[in-house]
Amino acid sequence: MKKENTVDRRRFLMAVGTGALGTRTRSASRHGVLKIRKEATIPYEPDVLVVGGGPAGIGAALGAAGKGADTLLIEHHAFFGGVAAWCLGMPINQMRPGSKARSKVHELVIERLLSYGDQAVRVGQHQLWCNVDYLKVAVLDALDQVGCKYLVHTRAIDAVVDGGRITGVVVATKRGPAVIRAKAVVDCTGDADVAYYAGAETMKETGSLSPITLCLNLTNVTREEVRKANMAEIAREARAKYPLIPKGWGLGKVSNSSGFYINHAGTRDMGQFDATDPVQRTQAECQSRRQVLQMALAMREFGGEELGAIELIGTGTQVGVRETRRVRGPYVLTEQDALSGRKFGDVIAWRSGFLDIGFVRLSKMKIHDVPYRAILPEKLEGLLMAGRCISATHVAASAGKSMGNCVATGHAAGLAAALSAKKGCLPRELKVSQLQDALRADGVDLTRGGQSQDELINTG
Ligand SMILES: Cc1cc2nc3c(=O)[nH]c(=O)nc-3n(C[C@H](O)[C@H](O)[C@H](O)COP(=O)(O)OP(=O)(O)OC[C@H]3O[C@@H](n4cnc5c(N)ncnc54)[C@H](O)[C@@H]3O)c2cc1C
Repeated sequence: MKKENTVDRRRFLMAVGTGALGTRTRSASRHGVLKIRKEATIPYEPDVLVVGGGPAGIGAALGAAGKGADTLLIEHHAFFGGVAAWCLGMPINQMRPGSKARSKVHELVIERLLSYGDQAVRVGQHQLWCNVDYLKVAVLDALDQVGCKYLVHTRAIDAVVDGGRITGVVVATKRGPAVIRAKAVVDCTGDADVAYYAGAETMKETGSLSPITLCLNLTNVTREEVRKANMAEIAREARAKYPLIPKGWGLGKVSNSSGFYINHAGTRDMGQFDATDPVQRTQAECQSRRQVLQMALAMREFGGEELGAIELIGTGTQVGVRETRRVRGPYVLTEQDALSGRKFGDVIAWRSGFLDIGFVRLSKMKIHDVPYRAILPEKLEGLLMAGRCISATHVAASAGKSMGNCVATGHAAGLAAALSAKKGCLPRELKVSQLQDALRADGVDLTRGGQSQDELINTG
């Protein structure tokens, strides 16, 4: 056993030293530990590489591939959807604000969902209530429809940077690390992983990060029983026995089914957890699993006639993370921009809904623009970002977190990546007017900034 280890180590060192097993990345050579394996080679070298398949990544992939760019979407989990999928049926907000189509990309996802009938989705005034298993397949259908390539179980673990420009991403596969090169990369990881690995400046509100929540699904209860139950009272009575439970929570209906989901305050009263820190992340995941069981037990034991028979039938694939790193761009969106409904000449998307630091603060805001400068890193070239890691302050980030807004910034970033790859220029060199024309051609109304939205309800 010992001998085998020695041989393996010698082979490993030789391979790293001579490059016999392939290229070393910028970071790999810096740390001298990561080797890229030839047998892990991925048979794609796309124009546009989208990393992370949550709402932003779906928007970016559909936007770029829909424009005809050779596009690859990679995702760490086994399916696409990100928080939309692992939060188990909560509303995907701001997909059709005021019941008006927002873009070709938003509509493509809605169409594919509707094709599966009313078990798959219920469309509200601005939101979709989905059965997430239909959502996962509807996203695959949409990606296939625009000819986007995709890989699941493929996690970005490093970046390749040449002369201040990102030219590829190192991914972990079951065959070991591999490099995927691309003309433009869109970081839709939520946590700004790619930007961080590539050395772009990121911001993080250490000490005030929004709570983390593991969502859950329940059944064997009716809408009427849910309406009658006093959840705050149940939580108060149950807390001595079940100390991890939040101070109260609501049950929402999953699509048109008989099941319910719960989105709740999660870790808010347990302290601060940074989901990019391996130790704190583990604590948050494990405490949240205990918390969810305690919530189910609390309802069964203290929920009386209404909730006494309730059954826990599922929990999220992982915790839902509301906030970690954000990338600093040439412009940083502010709370004031959201409250005043600020407009920008280089508008590429707009954000609607509420300024909502989940279960901490909820304020009204106006529809406001996102400038192109907020989806580009300040210095690094070749990279765009979308979704919850765009350039915004802690509070302003919460003003754009509704998933329909993340799809919108993704759509813009994907189109920008596709256009710059086609023109052979850097995303930063792209004429914003050309990007705006492409967005209009995809059905985006870039004049909505500044509008009030008193007619819109629901948060997220
Ligand atoms: C608990 C909770 C409740 C919420 N409630 C609502 C609501 O009711 N309605 C609403 O509209 N919004 C809600 N939001 C906000 C919304 O879900 C998020 O703002 C939105 O999902 C962010 O989209 P994203 O694509 O930027 O990131 P995410 O949804 O986090 O997706 C990121 C994706 O990237 C993948 N990924 C991450 N790192 C890597 C990597 N290194 N390599 C490869 N893949 C990677 C992840 O697996 C994931 O699929 C809620 C958020 C949370 C956490």
